[in-house]
Amino acid sequence: MKSRVSIICRGIVQGIGFRPFVYRTAKKYHLRGFVRNQGDAGVLIVAEGDKSKLTQFITSLETDKPYLAKYESFNVSWEKSSNEFLDFIIDKSSSKKVGGISYLPPDISICDDCLNDMKNPKDARRFKYAFTSCAICGPRYTTITRLPYDRPNTTMVNFPLCPSCKEEYQNPLDRRYHAQTTCCNICGPKLTLYDNNGKKVDTDDIFKEIGALIQEGSIIAIKGIGGTHLACSAVDDTSILRLRTRKGKRKTKPFALISKNLDAVRTYATISPIEESLLLSHRKPIVLLKKKDPFPLSQWVAPNLFNVGVMLPYSGIHYLILEEIKEPAIILTSANPSDIPMYIDNDYILSKASHLADYLLLHNRQIHQRADDSVIRLSNNLPVIIRRSRGWVPEPINLPFDLQDTISLGVGPLLTSTGAIALRDRCFPTQHIGDINTIESLDFLESSIEHMMSLLGITSLNAIGCDLHPNFLSTKLAEKYSKKFGASLFKTQHHYAHAVSLMIDNNLPLDEEIIAIVADGVGFGADEVIWG
Ligand SMILES: [Zn+2]
Ligand SMILES: [Zn+2]
Repeated sequence: MKSRVSIICRGIVQGIGFRPFVYRTAKKYHLRGFVRNQGDAGVLIVAEGDKSKLTQFITSLETDKPYLAKYESFNVSWEKSSNEFLDFIIDKSSSKKVGGISYLPPDISICDDCLNDMKNPKDARRFKYAFTSCAICGPRYTTITRLPYDRPNTTMVNFPLCPSCKEEYQNPLDRRYHAQTTCCNICGPKLTLYDNNGKKVDTDDIFKEIGALIQEGSIIAIKGIGGTHLACSAVDDTSILRLRTRKGKRKTKPFALISKNLDAVRTYATISPIEESLLLSHRKPIVLLKKKDPFPLSQWVAPNLFNVGVMLPYSGIHYLILEEIKEPAIILTSANPSDIPMYIDNDYILSKASHLADYLLLHNRQIHQRADDSVIRLSNNLPVIIRRSRGWVPEPINLPFDLQDTISLGVGPLLTSTGAIALRDRCFPTQHIGDINTIESLDFLESSIEHMMSLLGITSLNAIGCDLHPNFLSTKLAEKYSKKFGASLFKTQHHYAHAVSLMIDNNLPLDEEIIAIVADGVGFGADEVIWG
């Protein structure tokens, strides 16, 4: 018997190869109809065919979905068949705003299939091509400029597809079908190596060159996915001490390491099974691991500490550099100070990082949103996120209550801040912003909040939360937003805010009463003197 279903699914259903998956599944069950991205309203699927096939189709959408897909809601309505479709198609995206909760996936580390393309000398277009990606991997949050997630709305708009890439992009059976960041060495972004006088370095193999430079003791600035890092040897004391001198304040602050694979990490740190799964996950955070004793790398990597922060490569750029490094790890630390956002603009990187680095590796893809590396550690064998940024944003945190129609914004306090938007029963933190005590970091906070609002289809706010301290730049920003949107302003005592966030972490209902002991640094008190 012929029938018809309309399915609206929300959650992580855009930017992960979801529509091609729906297309292939519909084809498998000989269905007709369409699948369409609906901006903030998720994905609409309309399918007609045999009722039994439609039932199998729905089951398959649940059981076989791409590994990054996540349904927040999945509403099926059965209807009468109209026989209006000749085939199953992927329809053009709609940018209509309806106010649903759907969100992009975070930046996803390069997948194994793309790595294999990069390692395959027979793949003329992608062999050693650092920007290789497909429908299930590659940058997302850092490249999207607005919803819906289509190529013209990403920073890849500046790289029109070559005929071969276009063919893959248009072939529903190809894994690069509608992959918005796909490209190749003909049509995609290019890398250029500069010396610290801004002069281009001519080289036949840029990665071999950088590998050699690092192992000879040079410091290299590398523009990556969400910002710019400094890389140098992790075994050569002189290079690391030079890096510490150039970075000024960082006399003993630990540097993070990046290694080619787990075997390399095991030569200098111990890895538990949970830590292993975190290191290998598509989020690729920095994981704090226990150093081996004796520690075979330089003592200046993370002086006087038992732990060292380690990540595995998440982009083609890092993979290709590490392929040329014989040592088990190199240092990879952000080039910016903690109260200045990551450097993303090429001219700015050349002007700011030239006194820090001996060479600079830049590319011509614009980074629309910065994202620092996330940092995570185990505490009592449970992962505790220390910095939630690349690989996590813009995913939400679930709230134990529903805010209904009240859309609220938190702007964070002064140090290691993030912004956050609460919508219904979700809280969407922005990426890590840093210390908000410069105009640059305040601008970054503001642009991140506005980016998050645009990705969530929010045009107005009802409530704003900020620190009670009257002179924080974030407080000023909250006052500005409160005026702009006519939103209620809630100035909240710093330690009290920590206690409330603990209540949310522990899923306590709104009317629960608790006694909290908050041991934190200083905060402006309710009696207008500094507490803590
Ligand atoms: Zn891939
Ligand atoms: Zn191409």
